[in-house]
Amino acid sequence: IMQGDQSNIMQTIMVDFTPSAEKRSYPIHIGHGILQHIDLIVSCLPQKRVAIVSNSTVAPLYLEKLQTALEKQGVRTMPIILPDGETHKNWETLNIIFDALLKNHCERNTTILALGGGVVGDLTGFAAATYLRGVPFIQIPTTLLAQVDSSVGGKTGINHPLGKNMIGAFYQPLMVLADSATLNTLPDRELRAGLAEVIKYGLIRDPAFFDWLEQNMHRLLARDPVTLNEAIQRSCENKAEIVAADEKEKGIRALLNLGHTFGHAIENGMGYGVWLHGEAVAAGTVMAAELSRRMKLISEADVQRIRKIFIQAGLPVVAPEMPAEKYLELMLLDKKVESGKTRFIVLNRIGEAVMRADITPAVLNETILACMT
Ligand code: NAD
Ligand code: MG
Repeated sequence: IMQGDQSNIMQTIMVDFTPSAEKRSYPIHIGHGILQHIDLIVSCLPQKRVAIVSNSTVAPLYLEKLQTALEKQGVRTMPIILPDGETHKNWETLNIIFDALLKNHCERNTTILALGGGVVGDLTGFAAATYLRGVPFIQIPTTLLAQVDSSVGGKTGINHPLGKNMIGAFYQPLMVLADSATLNTLPDRELRAGLAEVIKYGLIRDPAFFDWLEQNMHRLLARDPVTLNEAIQRSCENKAEIVAADEKEKGIRALLNLGHTFGHAIENGMGYGVWLHGEAVAAGTVMAAELSRRMKLISEADVQRIRKIFIQAGLPVVAPEMPAEKYLELMLLDKKVESGKTRFIVLNRIGEAVMRADITPAVLNETILACMT
């Protein structure tokens, strides 16, 4: 660690499941260049053997260095390279992982590392949850979205032709290692998409973080290491607190879905992959803010402030043109629907979200129409 270089300082956040005694707590390490601190990984391996799951985009960038460093410490490594893309988050790709683990006689104590974005993380986590009924796994997220969201909280899984993320398991990793230096190779559009979820944490429960983001957005877009580390840290703190309190989404974890019911309708309606998830969440969050205003919970000035921060982040704030009925239909497909009733996350103020089930079709309709222009 270079003395005096702020960007090299590591922060550690615990996802703390105590007092639930049967669950382990685990650390999220965050820092610029910490992937080189190979001891972090080696010290928590139950066996000096790992399988590293990555994809055809991330592997050429980061795999060899990781492999060499591990081998140097006497750890046997086996890479498993998946095709890149959300369309490959399915059974077929999952079987590529199982085939490799079985062919190489990986055992109960072989740890699986997920090196990549949320797609690699979700697939690998699900493979780890089910291979031999559960083997240790470590998340090494390499997108902003994965560092602040998908690698934290233990949701793993794959898509089904009839719905996204419909097959999966809750399975917590041994640890998460988020190296913000890996974000240097991330395309701009992917970085911005990740910022949508970062902004979400401020909106749902952390007003001071929201203020800080307004002040620091330009530094985040410039990928300033210190600012990135702080944003990742504060996002993970927020998510870790929520997940520790409500692992299986029986209550407050649902607040993380702010903007997501509208967002999923956008993603699905436009055709998966046309809008990135974070882009849909940005426009969806503006829709949720507009809905909150129409319910007399927040002011027009608040809505403007929310619009502005997404614009600053280079994210869309106008809902794409689709018939309102289409939006309503797509929103009913949401996993959050219970007994046919769509529950919405709305804002009481900037920094406080609540779940409401008492939203009339009329107000929903007006909100959708108002947000398309
Ligand atoms: P992704 O994994 O598809 O990554 C985006 C693109 O960036 C891919 O092409 C990837 O190969 C590339 N990439 C990754 N790291 C890179 C790097 N450092 N440099 C250059 N390119 C890099 O997408 P994502 O946004 O990371 O994750 C989206 C997925 O995460 C979705 O499947 C979503 O359902 C899931 N998700 C899961 C949770 C959860 O709680 N488990 C939460 C949110 C999202
Ligand atoms: Mg999301």
